[in-house]
Amino acid sequence: MSSPPLPLRPGETLGILGGGQLGRMLALAAGRLGFDVAVLERDADSPAGRVAAHVIVGAYDDPEALKALAARARVVTYEFENVPAQAVLTLQQLGVEVAPGPEALAVAQDRITEKQFLNAAGAPTVAFRSADTPDEAVAAAEAMGAPVLMKTRREGYDGKGQRWIEHARDAAEVFRALGGRPVILEAPADFTRELSIIAARGRDGATAIYPLAENHHEGGILRRTLAPALVSTALAEQAERIALRVLEGLGYVGVIGIELFELPDGRLLVNEIAPRVHNSGHWTQDGCSVDQFEQQVRAVCGWPLGPTTPHARIEMLNLLGDEVDQWGRLAHDPDSRLHLYGKRTAQPGRKMGHVNKLRPL
Ligand code: AMP
Repeated sequence: MSSPPLPLRPGETLGILGGGQLGRMLALAAGRLGFDVAVLERDADSPAGRVAAHVIVGAYDDPEALKALAARARVVTYEFENVPAQAVLTLQQLGVEVAPGPEALAVAQDRITEKQFLNAAGAPTVAFRSADTPDEAVAAAEAMGAPVLMKTRREGYDGKGQRWIEHARDAAEVFRALGGRPVILEAPADFTRELSIIAARGRDGATAIYPLAENHHEGGILRRTLAPALVSTALAEQAERIALRVLEGLGYVGVIGIELFELPDGRLLVNEIAPRVHNSGHWTQDGCSVDQFEQQVRAVCGWPLGPTTPHARIEMLNLLGDEVDQWGRLAHDPDSRLHLYGKRTAQPGRKMGHVNKLRPL
């Protein structure tokens, strides 16, 4: 089946795997450029599904659901990096242009593969080792010297699936507590700040990079981003070099989030990469003329990338759990731009929305 070449034209349909808040904000940005959106999501009542023209209810590995998505959309992207690689391959076999591609997914889904890729691409990380058994975990922790941070190789997010080990002998017990699955052991990053950079690469190889953001986490969850971060030109250039190496190394198409540690000596290490729009890039919605969501739509649809120049400084605060109940007060503040995700229930720690507070540049 051969479909017309890209770009995808206004009036056509963009497919999105995943129905969460990132999918919702992607769908809203796509709608502004004249696209319809088809969301594939297991939950019939999802944040993205509620703003999409079409919802296909099914699992990512359901061949019928993938076929239904391919019948609607000749370009598909995703809002979530744990999409099974097979889903992407199935869509490609059905003639769909999936971006970012399967290489980026494979790299981002496994913390060992990710760090190996990053180091080979010239993007430095902390020292690390892998372990597949409790004994290997103890040996790795002894060789590295405690403390070390043990993380599951796959499927960790928002600080879940990771534990600090203070004594190498505890590594076997922590390995079992994390589910007895293959892990990575990481040396501590003695960072002064956590920063991130959102970058994009188009189908023509053009790149666009947003200014650095400074991030503050609590309990592994992002609470607050300040952007553009106050950094030296040298640090900004170092981050841009890292972003370019990652984008080129992956032959990437789309928006990527790159989480960084700033060390006391001014070096940057990459913590992890997310092959999608990223929570620490939400500031771009009110700080830049083309935000990360529109940028992702432009990149995957074969449109030119947009400018990344900031026009305001933003303090982005995530609204977790019942903090979303502050919407009424926040709506009174002329400098607060509210973004609510339309989730039905507010469990503690659940990302329910965010607010971008506008500050002068
Ligand atoms: P991650 O799930 O890899 O994004 O890690 C969640 C958070 O844990 C990061 O934002 C850091 O605050 C912290 N963290 C992760 N890896 C390290 C490390 N190697 N050294 C120190 N802190 C880390």
